[in-house]
Amino acid sequence: MINIATRIDPAIAAAVSELLQQLAGRHLIGNALVTAVAGATLDVIDPATGQVLGRAPAATSDDVAKAVDAASAAYPIWAATPARQRGRLLAQAAQRIAERSEVIAAVLALETGKALRTECRGEIAVAIDIITLYAGLASELKGETLPFDPQVLSFTTREPLGVVAAILPWNVPLVLMMLKIAPALVAGNTVVVKASEEAPFATIEAARLIAELLPPGVLNVICGTGRDCGMTLVEHPNVAKVTFTGSQAVGELIYQSAARKIIPVSLELGGKSPMIVYPDADLPRAVAGAVAGMRFTRQGQSCTAASRIYVHASRFDDFVAALRDAVSTLTIGDPLDEATDIGTVISQKQKTKIESYIALGEATPGATTLRCGALPTASHLKDGLFLQPTIVTGLPEDSPLMREEIFGPVVCVQSWSDEDDVLAKANDSDFGLAATVWTMDLRTALRATARLDAGYVQVNQNLTIQPNLSYGGFKKSGLGKEASLEAMLEHFTRKKTIVIDMR
Ligand code: NAD
Repeated sequence: MINIATRIDPAIAAAVSELLQQLAGRHLIGNALVTAVAGATLDVIDPATGQVLGRAPAATSDDVAKAVDAASAAYPIWAATPARQRGRLLAQAAQRIAERSEVIAAVLALETGKALRTECRGEIAVAIDIITLYAGLASELKGETLPFDPQVLSFTTREPLGVVAAILPWNVPLVLMMLKIAPALVAGNTVVVKASEEAPFATIEAARLIAELLPPGVLNVICGTGRDCGMTLVEHPNVAKVTFTGSQAVGELIYQSAARKIIPVSLELGGKSPMIVYPDADLPRAVAGAVAGMRFTRQGQSCTAASRIYVHASRFDDFVAALRDAVSTLTIGDPLDEATDIGTVISQKQKTKIESYIALGEATPGATTLRCGALPTASHLKDGLFLQPTIVTGLPEDSPLMREEIFGPVVCVQSWSDEDDVLAKANDSDFGLAATVWTMDLRTALRATARLDAGYVQVNQNLTIQPNLSYGGFKKSGLGKEASLEAMLEHFTRKKTIVIDMR
């Protein structure tokens, strides 16, 4: 176990160490921390130091079966619990997570490499906000009366689906978990979460705090590889619904597998989100929006990252200079350090992939690559997976940097002069997750937002997922919505029509 006591408040460090020992090699099944049936584990690496942080359990089909059995057994009692009671229990869970937030935030920073101050604390706050939202929506699980025949009572009810499988990536695991489990649980489903094998511990701990308030088996978390744990869970005959956030490639596999069982799926996949800056944009605001929207403080590891920025030619040079200045002021360093703005990327594999895109940008004739800010020099971080925010300009539209999801701190900035042309380029992508428009003219904003082929379109702001704003991608960015009442009703319940002849 690595020594973190020199990097963070000693009391938090002690609590983190104790927690990592408790969780070592264990799933959360039926409200107990249980070792994997075969006893196999996967090392979880602290990406800031390269040292082993802890051991995640490596599930086999036996662990998956145990978790689904626990969720299936708990389903009748949970589905029969009044909806508002389910909501009340979730609201209490939000409070428990808030009380433990400093320890969970430190674990999150250690396993993901995301900075504690700029990312991890905020992630927990949003996760709590999402639970609170859904806890209050329990009364909205309503049906309708249907005008049919005055002598016949016709109405619909909303029923839970059964056991929901929720499969998570590593980049914002707590928020993404809450977007799935909170509506699923409030709607009366039981859940088996498949945590990311790269960042499982904050997920398991937050889930444990919720699960302890609920009947055993209502909420379970297992961990393992995508194939042995994730796909085995999707294929389990008692799983009635799969909700997945992750890559497009895995989303396709899950969709195919779910099709064989004819069960519903929600998919939140990748993005290559355009940001269009018009000549009349408030430039400082747009630059701040680009820094926030690219999620530079998260090393760009965001599905909605504003990774293709189109700036009107009349503002292009000023925009690029201001963006370079803004990102150069961000401090790259130890994720646990309160002074750090930007931590690491998640893994050596991701770092190598991102560096290959940067090298390609540097080798592209006519393109300019600006690496901004300074890498940390502290000796304990010498093996850390740090990268500088990188701005690439002047790329051809068909460059892989413009078309593929890099999932790193690399932003492409292009110049435009014709509105039809820039909107066509913005839409010329396999993805359709998010887009932003920067203008002070409402007519321009409405024209552009109507034409943009993306599920989440913002004007003069570049926020990430917000509780109560329905969120979900078009095209290969996914299927279905999250973060809203609509998401709970459409994706975690089924509607039954009941017709009673009263004659
Ligand atoms: P990933 O697809 O590699 O893995 C996601 C999860 O799926 C992990 O738990 C993994 O173990 C599991 N998995 C892998 N193979 C599987 C299989 N064959 N069957 C079942 N499960 C399997 O994604 P990642 O690298 O963890 O995360 C990054 C990706 O997530 C990016 O593409 C990003 O855009 C996407 N993402 C999307 C959103 C969104 O809301 N649209 C949010 C965050 C991340």
